[in-house]
Amino acid sequence: MFVEQTQHLTGALSQAVQHLLAQVAAVAAQHQLPVWLVGGVVRDLLLGLPIDRDLDLAVEGDAIALAGQLLQLSGAHLVASHPPFGTATLQLPHPDDDGMLTLDLARTRVETYAHVGALPTVAPASMQADLARRDFSINAMACRLQAARTAAGDWALQPATLLDPFNGRADLQASVLQVLHKRSFADDPTRILRGVRLAARLGLRFANKSAVLLQQALQDGMLGAVSPERLRTELYLALSEPAPERVLEQADRLDLTPHLLAGVRWSDVLAARCLRVRTEPDLLVACLDRSEHTLALLYAGLITYDLPAQERRWLVQHYRLANDCASLFEDIIRVQGYREQLAQPGLANSTLDAILRPVNSVALGVVHYAESQSVGTTIAHYLGELRQLNPILDGHALQQLGVAPGPQLGALLRGLRAARLDGLVVSRTDEETWVSEQVHANNSTLPEQA
Ligand code: ATP
Ligand code: MG
Repeated sequence: MFVEQTQHLTGALSQAVQHLLAQVAAVAAQHQLPVWLVGGVVRDLLLGLPIDRDLDLAVEGDAIALAGQLLQLSGAHLVASHPPFGTATLQLPHPDDDGMLTLDLARTRVETYAHVGALPTVAPASMQADLARRDFSINAMACRLQAARTAAGDWALQPATLLDPFNGRADLQASVLQVLHKRSFADDPTRILRGVRLAARLGLRFANKSAVLLQQALQDGMLGAVSPERLRTELYLALSEPAPERVLEQADRLDLTPHLLAGVRWSDVLAARCLRVRTEPDLLVACLDRSEHTLALLYAGLITYDLPAQERRWLVQHYRLANDCASLFEDIIRVQGYREQLAQPGLANSTLDAILRPVNSVALGVVHYAESQSVGTTIAHYLGELRQLNPILDGHALQQLGVAPGPQLGALLRGLRAARLDGLVVSRTDEETWVSEQVHANNSTLPEQA
């Protein structure tokens, strides 16, 4: 859906959020600070998309001081402020639910780049000039927030026109991404990745001129000027998209992937594996936490699943990936080494356990979604039913049966668990019998005392 009526864009927000923004506008007006809704949120309002919990506000003036004044709003607290950039982040209880609403306030500014890939130096500027430093025309729109008193004496948002100096609205309607000037990708090559992400999420394509500039930037090696850490942040955002494989597809079309993830390539198979995460969520629901981070890890494992181990390790080193991602890759490599065994029917549960017990659940999730139906079913069976299975008797109970603390006790507990996994013991009595038989057998193999 494309919103034609731009006179009251904020009218698409819930009544409660509108009321909150009206209060923000009223406080800003008391201090003669023009305040605007800006960037992605304006774009998403025009697209008629639901607005998430992050609202970006631009302030023509001291945004940090305004954040301080907004602390008077009920439940508001300051999360962060960065004086060099003139930005502050506030959180308030979300008026529509139990969650929080984040307001990112930024002083309107212009940016200059000392060299390709550098972080910008900033200076205060007007709203209009601030829009000119942005990545794409569809992200370079703003909507002024102004409040008026209602008859009931409360604050209400006034209808506001769109500030759209680069025709972002028309580009949005035409589904194109357009940079604002020729040097845009050179100023900040991470915009290439931002664009690919937006293109995949919103079904956009780069406008012809921008596509040429993008290819030029790639040929000139601009991405090489960006630190691996900044690229890692962008890659993580791509993995956090609703359908990361579509971002990869876009990146492949633009020949971007070899610059970022050497050896990775979009394919039907890869896309189908990623899609299964969303169409077959049972394993996720039952065995993994469904946090955004876990999902990002799952997709990271799936997208790199067919890479040779060495290349995966190179990615870990190059991007200094966090330990959980590094060990995810190692776990996947381990399980891949047992592929054939895992595909065999009738594998004893205890053997399965010996192979899979050291492996983290997320890695097992990756293998589940990547492998054939038979391996996938085995993994789901293991994660859902076997992994958490434990004997009735614990170390304490074994000691009461006369087993001395020490290595023998540990070995007995492991053996008892294997017996339980394979169905050799069921009841507590079965377990006690099993233990005494083992102890007896062990003792009788001990050399006679002289
Ligand atoms: P999303 O829906 O993913 O949050 P967004 O466009 O809101 O998309 P943010 O990272 O939240 O992205 O940034 C907010 C706004 O800041 C963007 O809409 C854009 O105007 C501007 N912006 C962000 N990153 C850049 C950049 N690298 N270069 C220029 N402008 C940027
Ligand atoms: Mg945003």
